[in-house]
Amino acid sequence: MQLAKRLRNIQPSLTLAIDAKAKAMKASGIDVCSFSAGEPDFDTPDHIKAAAKLALDQGKTRYTAAAGIPELKQAIAAKLLRDNQLTYKPEQIIVTNGGKHSLYNLMMAILDEEDEVIIPVPFWVSYPEMAKLAEATPVFVITTEETGYKITPEQLEAAINPKTKLFVLNSPSNPTGMVYSPAEIHALAEVLERHPHVYIVSDEIYEKILYDGASHISIASVSPAMYDRTLISSGFAKAYSMTGWRVGYLAGAPDIIKAATIIQGHSTSNICTFAQYGAVIALNDSQECVETMRKAFAERRDVMYDLLTSIPGITCPKPDGAFYLFPSIKSFGMPSLDFCDKLLEEFQVAVIPGIAFGLDHCIRLSYATNLETIREGCDRIRQFAAKL
Ligand code: GLU
Repeated sequence: MQLAKRLRNIQPSLTLAIDAKAKAMKASGIDVCSFSAGEPDFDTPDHIKAAAKLALDQGKTRYTAAAGIPELKQAIAAKLLRDNQLTYKPEQIIVTNGGKHSLYNLMMAILDEEDEVIIPVPFWVSYPEMAKLAEATPVFVITTEETGYKITPEQLEAAINPKTKLFVLNSPSNPTGMVYSPAEIHALAEVLERHPHVYIVSDEIYEKILYDGASHISIASVSPAMYDRTLISSGFAKAYSMTGWRVGYLAGAPDIIKAATIIQGHSTSNICTFAQYGAVIALNDSQECVETMRKAFAERRDVMYDLLTSIPGITCPKPDGAFYLFPSIKSFGMPSLDFCDKLLEEFQVAVIPGIAFGLDHCIRLSYATNLETIREGCDRIRQFAAKL
């Protein structure tokens, strides 16, 4: 079977593949410690589930507008004003099938074959593949541990050329957990303001998961120019433990949102109707559940960070956001895929190889799981490392 040309250069999602493998191993009775997908282990808060159940009982089981129900768009606009000091009209927001889908729709809506997309490395696994699916060219800018795995204004300036259409910014970052400070965001915006042909997609899905006083600002809020050219991508999965609900959104310029809506209208239509009603309550009701989960993540980060960095040969910057650690395994002198395969085979610990994120000397561990698994898994990694 000859598959479409656009798929020839596309890799499967390793985060999803390894997570599926770990879940299948667990289901078959194997005692796996999984630090693979970034999926909070908490149940979705009851009041959000109740809202979706009520919607079902009320017969809210029909199609909605492709871009989402007005109540949800309104709740998202209110959130963006409350948390990010940004004003959006309903026609500037589209509700998508998770944050991932918002990024995909955006890339399909604005990228052409001759366009370049600047992607700082390490990156979340799906950014380059989405750019390639849209037939554009990813341009990788390698960051280092010395700059906290953050792109510098100088690196950004050097990467921009007349073909650059989009710059992908992700803070707090998946896979490193690093957070750009307000000063760093302003410095990047200063560069971008000099290049009005470049759009920015700001993936802010981890904005609520911050530690040690770190703060999040959206680059869209820096200046009117940044507001006009930034598309904010976010979703409910991480902050509200709603991974399986698949609710995300994209906010930005009306013409781009209109284009994304046309794509959605011919592909998925609206996302699940009663899930949208749950999401309304997630945003409009008390945010206490978000803080409760954030506190649990903070404790888990500390425990996993201390255990992992006490293993000889493993070094890791301490992140101040999201729920990932991204340690270096350089001293073991093996490709990250081999390291992860062996770790899963021999000690039943699932982690994601750094190669999925563009850095082969690292691995990614999600600590969105319970403390017992974190302790047991780190102990197994210690035994594994001692054998290498
Ligand atoms: N975004 C999460 C992760 O990076 C979920 C899996 C995925 O969609 O890639 O683990």
